[in-house]
Amino acid sequence: MKVGVVGVGYVGLVVGSCLSKLGNRVICVDIDTKKIQNLNKGILPIYEPGLKEIVETNIKEKRLLFTTNLKDCVTNSDIIFIAVGTPQGEDNKADLSYVTAAAKDIGKYINSYKVIVIKSTVPVGESERIKKIIMENQTKRIPFDVVSNPEFLREGSAVNDFLEPSRIIIGTESEKAKEIMLSLYKPLESKNKHILVVDNRSAELIKYASNAFLATKISFINELSRLAEKTKADIKSIAKGMGLDPRIGPKFLRAGVGYGGSCFPKDIRALIQIMREHDCSTHILDAVEKVNEEQRFLLVEKVKSLFESLNGKKIAIWGLSFKPNTDDMREAPAITIIKELQKEGALIRAFDPIAIKEAEKIFSNIEYGENPYDTIKGCDALVIVTEWGVFRKLDKKKIRELLKEPNIIDGRNIYEPKEMEKLGFNYICIGR
Ligand code: NAD
Repeated sequence: MKVGVVGVGYVGLVVGSCLSKLGNRVICVDIDTKKIQNLNKGILPIYEPGLKEIVETNIKEKRLLFTTNLKDCVTNSDIIFIAVGTPQGEDNKADLSYVTAAAKDIGKYINSYKVIVIKSTVPVGESERIKKIIMENQTKRIPFDVVSNPEFLREGSAVNDFLEPSRIIIGTESEKAKEIMLSLYKPLESKNKHILVVDNRSAELIKYASNAFLATKISFINELSRLAEKTKADIKSIAKGMGLDPRIGPKFLRAGVGYGGSCFPKDIRALIQIMREHDCSTHILDAVEKVNEEQRFLLVEKVKSLFESLNGKKIAIWGLSFKPNTDDMREAPAITIIKELQKEGALIRAFDPIAIKEAEKIFSNIEYGENPYDTIKGCDALVIVTEWGVFRKLDKKKIRELLKEPNIIDGRNIYEPKEMEKLGFNYICIGR
């Protein structure tokens, strides 16, 4: 099939590349000229496991094209995905200006029937607004349909998530668009992979509801971890015991420094605003946000509790991206934690396997280590903020020798407290 993708970010690049891997001809368009130039040279704007190979192969086989020419993309595609950003805007609402601009341009260039697919996470009712914008910008009346097809990929495993999805949600009221979308996704269908066709509005809300529910699980276990700490119980054991109940499940029950990233924070806030606009109570989501906000400050408090003053203390930070296997620093807990420690006069040395380039755009006033060991040399404490796999496998005796003081504040519970104590660490973690 002939597919166009507008917006080549984390979502657009993965969706476009994977659809080309499935045999479709895909034209990806972005307003960022540098990004497109780089992609055409095989330089990817993001780190995502497995993505580079797919991009290179499909460019070579001429199934995947990158351009800044939206007209080319629209006129040569039958299905056009809108995958531009919907960041947090005024009053915490989703900023729909990028989606609006893309829809206006698409409207101008529609030359035959198209299915316009909203991949971006958008508020309920957005598909109708997009339809109106496209119609208003058409120079002549050519039929089209708008489908809501939210994306559930996770950064760090995005390629796999797209190719092996837990579910595909197609929101449409058009039989023709439904058939086209079903045949596009046919290669991904199997016994365990559900394709659910619903109305546009429900599809839009499924995305927000899913993110909000996952965030609720995280905040729930984080709040409970505070009680576990005070009562000398172990939050890891509690989560394990809870997770064995199939009605609860083990995922998203890991206590830590709270959620961050490009989606959860902004989507939870946007959903709260939508609910308020519709005069619905937001008790649960308000609490989810509050607990999450507090959680990263609690980690800072744990660091502060070790010293009379943090002024002049050298603090090492392991992990900067908001989660492992991505270089995405958007709303990363590390940002707040580093800023708070700096406010107290701490000197920061940080390491991340992939995200240092992104971190440098935010922090020019910290030192960056070349590897985990080099980073902690002579430091008064090590703070673990992101649970990269590499940190689990390091030589703990060496860590002990390199640190000036054996203080580890583990915001992700990656080590075993008893083992760490035996090794002579002052090991502080979450809820254990
Ligand atoms: P992003 O910021 O990484 O990428 C957006 C891209 O769109 C940028 O490259 C930007 O230059 C481009 N763009 C903006 N306006 C444009 C226009 N008019 N024409 C062409 N290109 C334009 O965003 P992202 O993380 O890929 O997220 C995109 C959407 O998908 C958001 O709504 C997000 O909430 C949703 N989403 C993201 C994830 C994720 O893990 N990142 C997962 C699921 C859903």
